Amino acid sequence: MRRRDFLNTGLHAAALTSVYSLIWNRREAAGCSMSTEPEESVVVIGAGVAGLAAARDLKSRGYRVIILEARNRIGGRVWTTKLGDQPVDLGAQWLEGVKDNPITGLCADFEIELAQTRYKNSAVYDDAGQRVDDRTRRRLSGEARRRLAETRKLNRQLVQTDQPDISMADALRKAGPGEGLTEQEQRIVDWAVSWWLEATEAEDARRLSLRHYWGETEGDSFGGGPRLFPGGYGQITDGLAKGLDIKLEHTVQVIEHNRAEVIVTTNQGVFRVDRAVVTLPLGVLKAATVKFVPPLPEQKRQAIGRLGMGVAHKVVLRFAEVFWPQDVEYFGYASGNRGQFVEWVNMYPYTGKPILSLWSQGDFARTLEKRPAEIVVKQAMGVVRTIFGAAAGDPVGTLVTRWGSDPFSRGAYSNLPLGSSYDDYDRLAEPVGDRLFFAGEATDRVHMATVHGAFLSGVREANRIAKMAG
Ligand SMILES: Cc1cc2nc3c(=O)[nH]c(=O)nc-3n(C[C@H](O)[C@H](O)[C@H](O)COP(=O)(O)OP(=O)(O)OC[C@H]3O[C@@H](n4cnc5c(N)ncnc54)[C@H](O)[C@@H]3O)c2cc1C
Repeated sequence: MRRRDFLNTGLHAAALTSVYSLIWNRREAAGCSMSTEPEESVVVIGAGVAGLAAARDLKSRGYRVIILEARNRIGGRVWTTKLGDQPVDLGAQWLEGVKDNPITGLCADFEIELAQTRYKNSAVYDDAGQRVDDRTRRRLSGEARRRLAETRKLNRQLVQTDQPDISMADALRKAGPGEGLTEQEQRIVDWAVSWWLEATEAEDARRLSLRHYWGETEGDSFGGGPRLFPGGYGQITDGLAKGLDIKLEHTVQVIEHNRAEVIVTTNQGVFRVDRAVVTLPLGVLKAATVKFVPPLPEQKRQAIGRLGMGVAHKVVLRFAEVFWPQDVEYFGYASGNRGQFVEWVNMYPYTGKPILSLWSQGDFARTLEKRPAEIVVKQAMGVVRTIFGAAAGDPVGTLVTRWGSDPFSRGAYSNLPLGSSYDDYDRLAEPVGDRLFFAGEATDRVHMATVHGAFLSGVREANRIAKMAG
């Protein structure tokens, strides 16, 4: 087994402590000793990372906070469940860079083990299941990089000359197919582009904007490399939720606000409070299943319509034993079918358990969601056997996700399609009057689509409420 490098090995623990926990604990301690009058009441809608962060922050300031959550669990798009005895992440999985990431500090506070992971430690297989040799792979990766670099040049031209936006797929077409490649090689180049581009955005290139793919947050991720959570990302949401008043299975149906109060109607009763923080996912806002009275401002509704909600899909397979190269962390499958089982995470190096997590995205993921789980598993196993042959035994445990059709997420995370812009994230973040506030990954124009973005947005809105209250 590959040696695991854990975050707290050789690093100074004090430097990692979360500044947020420190502030929250200090405020709470000061509040206890001052025995202040109870402050305003706030309802936070949604117990995902954004909602939990907002509630923790507001509670530490003395607000009376209730979280209303539709599901029978907390965490939202952070969802750790079990496959046998092993925690498995069905939603967010990676800590995207440890340096200065607010989640890193929380890991130290909650004593969460992190495992270093290297995307480069990967093997790619062609559609016939043959492993692509290292030399060919380097050559074809170079070609994929060239194509992406061309799209970046096109982006600069487009911005400088103020031309209309085009899709990333059109930009890739303009970048050319590459000289003298066989059909098989072309598929491998397409796979590499898809892994870098479409898997990250959870969307097909034909929907993504060239102008914004190479936009203002390019290269934004924190340094220090990615990490995985051998015990699951849910440890973060469990830690954040401690001591909070969370009402599960409370589906919010109507949010009404006026000058004096906010009235939130759920399937289990009505809550009247001074203010509300809405962390409904972009997909839920798009579906308009929660009614706002009065309706949301036109600008906000348009921004909701313009931003994209991608779909990422996971099939998690547990086997009796490892039959794949156990030290290789990632496998790629260069199928001719766009978005199909593009990226596989080998969980063995991090957990010691024979588990593979197969990712698909975009329209292929949407198609998978429409099929019964056993068919999806059969389809995934077909590919596993194409690659690993008869050595691949039947899985002993399986999990299949449905983020796109889940009524409480309606997608995996936000992206920027043609016709949208970064300003739309700001429009989503804007409060409505001084009673209704908005947080969630799709309200952070810098860190959208991530756990840390959701966290920062929750703290941002808690600060905004505190400032507004004076
Ligand atoms: C498959 C997948 C993989 C991902 N991978 C990563 C990753 O590796 N790294 C990373 O940083 N990010 C990743 N993300 C993105 C990350 O999970 C999200 O950006 C983040 O968790 C969003 O948090 P949030 O609080 O904004 O929204 P959510 O977590 O969606 O929280 C919103 C909450 O509102 C609740 N809700 C919805 N409707 C109602 C209603 N009517 N009434 C009451 N409650 C309601 C929901 O149940 C949910 O709990 C991934 C997401 C997915 C789906």
